[in-house]
Amino acid sequence: MTKRALITGITGQDGSYLAELLLSKGYEVHGLIRRASTFNTHRIDHLYVDPHDEGAKLFLHYGDLSDGARLVTLVGEINPDEVYNLAAQSHVRVSFDEPEHTADTTGVGSIRLLEAIRVAGVRPRFYQASTSELFGATPPPQGEDTPFYPRSPYGVAKLYSYWITKNYREAYDMFAVNGILFNHESPRRGETFVTRKITRAVAAIKAGQQKHLYMGNIDSVRDWGYAPEYVEGMWRMLQVDEPEDFVLATGQDHTVKDFLAMAFEHAGLDWGEHVRFDERYLRPTEVDALIGDASKAKEKLGWEAKVHTPELARIMVDADIKALECAGTPWIDTPTTLGSDAPIPGVQPR
Ligand code: NDP
Ligand code: GDP
Repeated sequence: MTKRALITGITGQDGSYLAELLLSKGYEVHGLIRRASTFNTHRIDHLYVDPHDEGAKLFLHYGDLSDGARLVTLVGEINPDEVYNLAAQSHVRVSFDEPEHTADTTGVGSIRLLEAIRVAGVRPRFYQASTSELFGATPPPQGEDTPFYPRSPYGVAKLYSYWITKNYREAYDMFAVNGILFNHESPRRGETFVTRKITRAVAAIKAGQQKHLYMGNIDSVRDWGYAPEYVEGMWRMLQVDEPEDFVLATGQDHTVKDFLAMAFEHAGLDWGEHVRFDERYLRPTEVDALIGDASKAKEKLGWEAKVHTPELARIMVDADIKALECAGTPWIDTPTTLGSDAPIPGVQPR
């Protein structure tokens, strides 16, 4: 039997890799996309096949996490086996500028989707894109039992989604889980997140198109992994027998300054000559250090990060240099580890 998945946020970094992964596993994939006046599907255009064609397995539907009635209709019509809720206003700095919108999408959006599933009477397995931003001010290492202390409207909205997912698991016996994912990046990362901002600037400086890069706090510490590996972890969380929450992380720490040094050095540049400070990139409250402990995922899911930050920086710089050279999309032929067939401990293929 072909399995059917619904992905919200399919046009984002993770949604695009997850769609690839699920299609490679033979799933029929349905994606929720927002209606916009310009096309917003560039990350998944290479996957799209005209739905009239026999063999089409990817289907896109207009919808928005702010529109609960639409979600009820869609979930009922699609009747998915698995739902991945990846849609969100996902930028921490932007959440200080648009706190109400962030609460509505990143927080209340999740309950709209969970309620749609409950009201439509379907019984999919549900994945919620939770985040290391939940830990916020709590010092590392951070694992599943570490107390939460979010430090931004984004973190607080995600805290609501974390708990409502847990509540629906307990109240309605839903298979609903939180993946608490530490930062994960790729050539498809949004251009205003720090890693991609840096690697794009490196490419532009190398090409002589830009001189300076303006940054905020470069002392913060992050645990940056490689996005294609993390979507594999999401899928694994829905294949085990019991619904449980899992941290995914590399366990290694680097400062933003380290990332700058690695990225510039890979292109033969000295970051000190190009990087300038601009206070507009500071946050009113910062998350100083995130370093994850993913030992539970290793033990129960057989999942482990293989690409660490230095290699990630090189992959991203190479992709952005190539993209500038050919004025094309940087992500189609970047190396991924999609479709890893490492066994999930104790789980028969479903
Ligand atoms: P992106 O910002 O790349 O993608 C977000 C997606 O959500 C896009 O497809 C966007 O659509 C969609 N979206 C935004 N608002 C709405 C809405 N109101 N209704 C429907 N869709 C909407 O995020 P990532 O792929 O990087 O992350 C995926 C999820 O994982 C997010 O929830 C994020 O918060 C979370 N997360 C990410 C981490 C990371 O390091 N990447 C770490 C931990 C958690 P559009 O393309 O139209 O804008
Ligand atoms: P976050 O961990 O979800 O906030 O991911 P980001 O990539 O947006 O930011 C990671 C870290 O980089 C945070 O501590 C930011 O304060 C820091 N940072 C420093 N300068 C910048 C910048 O110019 N843009 C962004 N996005 N982050 C920056």
